[in-house]
Amino acid sequence: MFKDKEKFKERFTERFVSMHGKAITEATENDIYQTLAYLVRETVTTDWLRTKETYIHKKSKQVYYFSLEFLLGRFLHNNLLSLDVLKDVERGLDELGYQLSDLTEEEPEPGLGNGGLGRLAACFLDSLAALGLPGHGNGIRYQYGLFKQKIIDGYQVELPDNWLKNGNMWEIRRSDKAVDVPFGGHVWLEEVGDGGYRVHHEPAEIVRAVPYDMPIVGYQNKVVNNLRLWSAESPLDDDELLSQYRGNYKDLLAHKQSIQTISEFLYPDDTTYEGKELRLKQQYFFVSAGLRSILTSFKKRNHSLKQLGNHIAIHINDTHPVVAIPELMRILIDEEGFGWEEAWRITKSVMSFTNHTLLSEALERWPIDLFRRLLPRIYLIIEEINRRFCKDVLANYPHMEAHMRDIAIIADDRINMANLAVVGTHSTNGVAQIHTEILKQREMRLFYEMFPLRFNNKTNGITHRRWFLSSNPALANRVTEAIGDSWIQHPSDLQKLTKWAEDSALQKDIAEIKLQRKEELALLIEKETGIVVDPTSIFDVQVKRLHAYKRQLLNALHIHSLYYRLKEDRSFTMTPRTFIFGAKAAPGYHYAKEVIRYINALARLINQDPDVSPYLKVVFLENYRVSLAEKIFPASDVSEQISTASYEASGTGNMKFMMNGALTIGTLDGANIEIRDEVGDANIFIFGLTPQEVMNYKQYGGYSAYDQYSAQPELRRIIDSLVDGTLFAPGEFQAIYDSLLTYNDEYLILKDFMSYQQAQERIDRMYQQPEEWYKRVILNIARSGVFSSDRTIKEYANAIWNIKPIQL
Ligand SMILES: *Cc1c(COP(=O)(O)O)cnc(C)c1O
Repeated sequence: MFKDKEKFKERFTERFVSMHGKAITEATENDIYQTLAYLVRETVTTDWLRTKETYIHKKSKQVYYFSLEFLLGRFLHNNLLSLDVLKDVERGLDELGYQLSDLTEEEPEPGLGNGGLGRLAACFLDSLAALGLPGHGNGIRYQYGLFKQKIIDGYQVELPDNWLKNGNMWEIRRSDKAVDVPFGGHVWLEEVGDGGYRVHHEPAEIVRAVPYDMPIVGYQNKVVNNLRLWSAESPLDDDELLSQYRGNYKDLLAHKQSIQTISEFLYPDDTTYEGKELRLKQQYFFVSAGLRSILTSFKKRNHSLKQLGNHIAIHINDTHPVVAIPELMRILIDEEGFGWEEAWRITKSVMSFTNHTLLSEALERWPIDLFRRLLPRIYLIIEEINRRFCKDVLANYPHMEAHMRDIAIIADDRINMANLAVVGTHSTNGVAQIHTEILKQREMRLFYEMFPLRFNNKTNGITHRRWFLSSNPALANRVTEAIGDSWIQHPSDLQKLTKWAEDSALQKDIAEIKLQRKEELALLIEKETGIVVDPTSIFDVQVKRLHAYKRQLLNALHIHSLYYRLKEDRSFTMTPRTFIFGAKAAPGYHYAKEVIRYINALARLINQDPDVSPYLKVVFLENYRVSLAEKIFPASDVSEQISTASYEASGTGNMKFMMNGALTIGTLDGANIEIRDEVGDANIFIFGLTPQEVMNYKQYGGYSAYDQYSAQPELRRIIDSLVDGTLFAPGEFQAIYDSLLTYNDEYLILKDFMSYQQAQERIDRMYQQPEEWYKRVILNIARSGVFSSDRTIKEYANAIWNIKPIQL
């Protein structure tokens, strides 16, 4: 990109003047950011074109990751690292009087996802490019990303995230590649002679999908893949609009507005099913546009569609893009003239599916009448898929007759998208070993019986480039000093650290680096909340979406218990601890918002109180997002992964903490189990019910929250104080109180409380022995390599997609 620092300064200054038409002495930080991003983009664009040409030239099979969410985070810093110019740019800017870390804050953050699922998609894109694999993203360019969260008087308040208002340096609009997507209207079949028929669809509405491409830059390998995000626009140009609306400006605007709504905002809830027509429209919109653009470029290269599965793989991220299956059938049959059997064979060979959750409320089941009205032709195809599938099952597995309602794609006037996903793909995977096992034994048992080979596990991962190399450079450098830098290309080489675990020089250095990160986070906390925290206290962190099953409430109740002990038991001592939370609640999720309010009420109670605040601080950082996460993980000592066992499919936050040297307190859930298997029981704090014990309670009953409440006086007092007026206003936290007692504590918080408290006491004692603590810190970093998404992506590439890396 630049030969050296001097060349960089030269080009930078030149570019600045031509971009902004003023002297660099007049620059704002944003001007400087824009200029720098522009220079990076220039370099990237050349590699981007060359990568595309190479894929075509080598006839590489390509995978497209279809996802309604990509939680990308900022690009500038990562792109500089990938282009291997970070050092020169940092020094050059410094000489010009700018700090790179300030400039990166100027970049608007694409928060086009809710949490783990969207962040996984972003990590996968990063790994695909870094590994030189032909893999691209397909999604929606939401005009508003996930809402911005403010905390006002303890309440969550949501603000729109207008991330595009100052433009986006990382996208290129491709009007020439726009695609029209039809909705509604009616469908009829025309007989054409020999028993065949032709399908006609007269849509009620046509929406123009305009693609914006974003470069995904591989790590120091010249590979640049593509993320294509679609924006919804009116298909009519100004003249057509004029003649259609004849000066009725209000109707004209309403027409434009109703179309643009499709890509206007991200649904701020990834766990509960949203029965909104708009949501289904979003799904078909980006799936149909994506498929059409893939097939158009495929056909340009004169391949036969019969071989589509040898050239193209499409991955369906959760059930949101499942409509890709009938849409590809439609294209092959209605537009390309294939017969059903052949089209079905091709479709299954192209498509694969990942299930992300066992929560039944998250399973998408569309009401037939809504679906048929919006997508009449797609509905007919799903009906036919269902008819043939049911017929096959009855012919080949007659004992399934009693279970048809569970496995049919259409039942009880609803379309079951998860069932369609399993039936219409060649691969279904879960995202951690335990999750895949539960899928096979419970949710999808009947499908697993019929198609055992279709099911497989791909344990999630995180990109160690963003979540370690880029966000924690001091620690990454110190690791490299000890074991060399091979771990950057081969993250499993981090295990070379194992033999350094007891090295006191390394332990001391890592402790020092951790303290520096904690000091920085302490400054941020003070700036954002006014709370002063002690960087030498244990930083105990729970950051993730707020959801009942993730049990932020268990953490809060434990803090509440520490408050009482410090306040009332003169003999009680503890290692000073700072409890840090970050979490957005879905705007309509009342219970989750009450938990946020409770945490903030505890913070107010505790942080002011001179009896307890020397030992205990509680901080709720607002607006948890990727850029904040990048500052939090390096500064964490304790990673809270305390979901009710069997409910968290995998978790990926757990992996980011581990890699940054935080020790996990966690249940045997999701990937925590695999983390435990890697580090061993001595190096993680496991507590609580096992997944089997939880599933037994759920299946056979027998849990009484009231018994737990009665048998644990300390806990009883805490729960009573939620409503009795002793600490808060009378009835203040009635909803939480009711969730525990009136509704029998669905997530078994009271059952796990004591075991959690004991695990916290083990942490407290161990932190007093720095050698013991930092030995475990080093072992955790050493064993974190398998949780790089590079490992995950290699498994997908080999076992599901059958794609191969290229060399540039
Ligand atoms: C990693 C990440 C998540 C997922 O966290 P979990 O603890 O696995 O639920 C959510 N949001 C952001 C911003 C993340 O970086």
